[in-house]
Amino acid sequence: TGTLMAGKRGLVMGVANDRSIAWAIASACAAQGAELAFTYQGEALGKRVRPLAESVGAGLVIPCDVGDDADIDRAFDEIEKAWGKIDFVVHAIGWADKQFLRGRYVDTPRDAFLKAMDISCFSFTAVARRAAALMTDGGSLLTLSYLGAERVMPHYNVMGVAKAALEASVRYMAADLGKDNIRVNAISAGPIMTLAANGIGDFRYILRWNQLNAPMERNVSLKDVGGSGLYLLSDLSSGTTGEVHHVDCGYHIVGMKNPNAPDI
Ligand code: NAD
Repeated sequence: TGTLMAGKRGLVMGVANDRSIAWAIASACAAQGAELAFTYQGEALGKRVRPLAESVGAGLVIPCDVGDDADIDRAFDEIEKAWGKIDFVVHAIGWADKQFLRGRYVDTPRDAFLKAMDISCFSFTAVARRAAALMTDGGSLLTLSYLGAERVMPHYNVMGVAKAALEASVRYMAADLGKDNIRVNAISAGPIMTLAANGIGDFRYILRWNQLNAPMERNVSLKDVGGSGLYLLSDLSSGTTGEVHHVDCGYHIVGMKNPNAPDI
């Protein structure tokens, strides 16, 4: 525990359970004195999120489906009423129809493409616009991406295309908001077994491949991502914006299979 985030208030969007990346970042910030609010998608997840929020002393726990502008407006209205301003937002939300996270990308139908783009890319823009209006003393906005945005990963398909757009949106918003001392960054995390990851075909194989071939010869932990999230949300990263920061035990630099790794 420490005081790196003392006096800062932030909203964490995307906690589904205690294995969520959003929760790892939230815990790291809470341990440094941040005051947190949470949003959740639907009552089933609300039941899981409320006790987690309570455990870090968060009073504001708000339902918000980011596919609905009215929900986003209501969430930020509540935050404005309670806090008046906000210092940071974590957007750890992604979604695509499972049916298209296998097989060929080229077969993605229009509906599935637009829904994946809406929830996984546009929602960060919609949230950022409302948050920026409350960031009167500057702030930090953080989203989550994956290497499938930059290179072809098996089964990632339409999510890869949506994450590429999300990463581009990080750069455009960093340019828009920089003069207001609002920073916008992404963490490109290595694979972690979460609820969302479960929807991706052959995810266990992807985990094993990364573990064997990453320079650090292991997979990232939730704690690894939490620590990097804390850095990007805190004043330690006060000169960093528009960045896609890889937290993947170095996997993104690798061009070939580790010659010493066993066959899988
Ligand atoms: P998770 O299932 O714990 O979190 C995903 C969250 O998205 C859930 O809380 C879910 O409720 C939320 N969500 C989906 N649709 C929503 C909607 N319409 N409105 C509001 N919330 C919605 O899984 P996670 O792996 O922690 O995912 C968090 C982020 O990290 C995602 O953007 C994911 O793409 C990204 N990411 C994950 C990995 C990984 O391997 N797990 C790697 C890189 C990036």
